[in-house]
Amino acid sequence: MNLYLGIDFGTSGARGIVIDEEASSIQAEVRYPFQDSGDAVTPSFWQEALFALVELIPEELRREIKAIAINGTSSTVLLVDAAGNPVDAPLLYNDARGSLVIEDLRSIAPPNHTVLSATSSLAKLMWMRQLPTFSEARYFLHQADWLAFLLHGYLGISDYHNALKLGYDVEELKYPEWLELLQIPIQLPKVLPPGTPIAELHPEIADKFGLRNDCLVCAGTTDSIAAFLASGAKLPGEAVTSLGSTLVLKLLNRTRVEDVRYGIYSHRLGNLWLTGGASNTGGAVLKQFFTSAELASLSCEIDPSKASELDYYPLLKAGDRFPINDPNLPPRLEPRPDHPVEFLHGLLESITRIEARGYELLQQMGADKVSRVYTAGGGAANHIWTAIRARNLQVPVVASVYTEAAYGTALLAMRGVKKGHGDGCVVGKCSKILGI
Ligand code: ADP
Repeated sequence: MNLYLGIDFGTSGARGIVIDEEASSIQAEVRYPFQDSGDAVTPSFWQEALFALVELIPEELRREIKAIAINGTSSTVLLVDAAGNPVDAPLLYNDARGSLVIEDLRSIAPPNHTVLSATSSLAKLMWMRQLPTFSEARYFLHQADWLAFLLHGYLGISDYHNALKLGYDVEELKYPEWLELLQIPIQLPKVLPPGTPIAELHPEIADKFGLRNDCLVCAGTTDSIAAFLASGAKLPGEAVTSLGSTLVLKLLNRTRVEDVRYGIYSHRLGNLWLTGGASNTGGAVLKQFFTSAELASLSCEIDPSKASELDYYPLLKAGDRFPINDPNLPPRLEPRPDHPVEFLHGLLESITRIEARGYELLQQMGADKVSRVYTAGGGAANHIWTAIRARNLQVPVVASVYTEAAYGTALLAMRGVKKGHGDGCVVGKCSKILGI
């Protein structure tokens, strides 16, 4: 039997999911929570978590794993030396120190390019250039690239999901010429399609953990794309809304839609594009007013067939980017009715209007018409909200098949191998592509 392992590195810990050839059932699910927030920024903890996860998988399943892929948080990056040892602390996905170099970047990158954001991988790399340790660095890697290196032993390899915010041209499949003007003195990763088998496991790792010697390590992806892959959405027009602390939309489409002003960018997904936008509204605002139990019980008293007239823009603090790009946009939570059910109805209806406006904006920018919306995140469990959303969005609204990023990454490994990349000597084949 061939099994496939997907590993997800998130902000609160790492997870692994093992699936079989049919992906119809989860064979094993393992977790390794970070103990405190410092763990998320320490590569030695990532390493510990990676190997601990593998050891948590029952031995008899480990022996059947044919391929492994890893997803990391998007734009969590680090510098490593020639042996792959980190030379300094990584910069996490939400680290905005890159804002100090954005003006310099603006003079070189095309207008409205994805890299022109304080948290982009390229902005982080440019910021890292002034670190005293920069001279020791040989490679710039994303979290997922480095973790995969720990398994296969090859440095300087990434995938085009992680590399998008580094400026990699995912349409032409090469680094753009303007990037050369930055004269970056270290090795940028060679970029492969996500899921491409890179190499067999390092023999020492295979022996130590009772894994197969012919187990392939595949190019990875980012956490949010992995969650999209898990959802079950696969046709143009199918979308996934994540109703977590914030509201995140992702729409599968035939057109590449980008606009940095709205924080909209498209990832390549085979021959399609995955276009995303994220609003600051979402469950965090609901949590400000209601406990989880209240959200569940009060929602049951709402009649979802009736629209609430309350017109809010629920935010924790001023400012949104998508679908309204206004850093000063004030939260609008008035008038507040006496009855909590009415208030909650107004909040759910208003977040839904923002969701609908978001999809409208993507479509106005040229994205495919939305045909179905899968749902992930804490709000997906609220059936009343689902009904409110179906009424507003006027398309079927369904729960995601799976919501775990690790499941999506396991699918990526499986599809990468099944595409036929995985036959025979992969390192030999890859060495031509990669020049290693
Ligand atoms: P995160 O983005 O932090 O990972 P989760 O996906 O875990 O978030 O979702 C948590 C959010 O889900 C909370 O902010 C909470 O308000 C929201 N939530 C939880 N239960 C419900 C519910 N029954 N109805 C609506 N929202 C809910």
